Amino acid sequence: MTMFTRRDALLTITAGGVAAAAATQALAADVPQPMRGPGFGGTDPGPRNVALDIANPDILNPPPTDSGTLPNLRFAFSDAPMKQYTGGWTRQVTIRELAVSKPIAGVNMRLNAGGVRELHWHKEAEWSFMLSGRARITAVDAQGRNFVDDVGPGDLWYFPSGIPHSIQGLGDDGCEFLLIFDDGSFDEDSTFLLSDWFKHIPPEVMAKNFGVPADTFNKLPDPSKLYIFPAPMPASLAADKAVGVEDVPQIFSHHMTAQDPIKTSGGRAWITDSSIFPISKTVSAALVEVDPGAMRELHWHPNADEWQYYIEGKARMGVFAAHGQSRTFDFSAGDVGYVPFAMGHYIENIGDTPMRFLEVFKSSYFADVSLDQWLALTPPELVEAHLGFSQDFMKALRKKKEPVVG
Ligand code: MN
Ligand code: MN
Repeated sequence: MTMFTRRDALLTITAGGVAAAAATQALAADVPQPMRGPGFGGTDPGPRNVALDIANPDILNPPPTDSGTLPNLRFAFSDAPMKQYTGGWTRQVTIRELAVSKPIAGVNMRLNAGGVRELHWHKEAEWSFMLSGRARITAVDAQGRNFVDDVGPGDLWYFPSGIPHSIQGLGDDGCEFLLIFDDGSFDEDSTFLLSDWFKHIPPEVMAKNFGVPADTFNKLPDPSKLYIFPAPMPASLAADKAVGVEDVPQIFSHHMTAQDPIKTSGGRAWITDSSIFPISKTVSAALVEVDPGAMRELHWHPNADEWQYYIEGKARMGVFAAHGQSRTFDFSAGDVGYVPFAMGHYIENIGDTPMRFLEVFKSSYFADVSLDQWLALTPPELVEAHLGFSQDFMKALRKKKEPVVG
């Protein structure tokens, strides 16, 4: 005999009620439906994630020009595992989260006031964009030359692969920044940590190396307690610079937004590569600000894949992959976007506020090819023979390249 328990009834009623409520909500008038128009698609009564559908209108209702199968080219940091420590937090978007990103991995990190990212090094080079607050960064190169600097919003740093360094949050509220590593397989848990190595060296070897008694190392910290930990606020920048030690010949920091931007009719762009930030030999970038209604023009990059980080506003990007394949993605602040090598693309501001994002490349130099400029500089008869455009269109083609935002 089957016993009918109160618990069975509760589960049955709850599941039924949730499903019915979800279906009602999913068909509410202000909820978008996967219907491009009469005779295309249909309603989605649910189950469905309405918040995600609203955030991604071009996934739910792709433009009719979309076609074929492209890999996923978007990953939200909000979907990345969050790791919390006593001095802040960190999360990463690597090839494990965004499979297409072989050359680049990204990390979003927060250091509270005084919070230190432990002294460490890694196999990959590290490039960073400061999002908010201030940080003290330190490094030493293989020739024993020193680097200490303070960075703030819009500043960059670059630590070549294998160079030991640290980061500490300053001021009342520390800092937040984006880190870029020039290998998509990078893993935050695979960095070489000072405390981890100390823990794995016999005390008598340490004694020999540092010339102190072995019992000096009796109470080493647990490596899991460091990584990002609170520490006293540092002294002034001048006091922290080692006296009598030579500075690194190529400075590891750069004031990106102190550069004069390239100004166009639809926005502004700050481009930084090794031509003006010489140490940054494996990473180049553009910070792009697009006005409401404006667009990062149709273009592609002849040298590298593009890894994007959306800082503010709402955007949509269309990517053309040859062979009749095309796909459209939507982005909000905190999202990562991606464009595989040489694929044509545009990025529109679809919100009513300025939209800002970073284009990052594993390359010593920034380069893009503008569709507009290509056609404008090609004999008009040749372009007309291909596409049959009117004389008006041909006249409208701008003769002068607006390099970034049209
Ligand atoms: Mn690092
Ligand atoms: Mn691009």
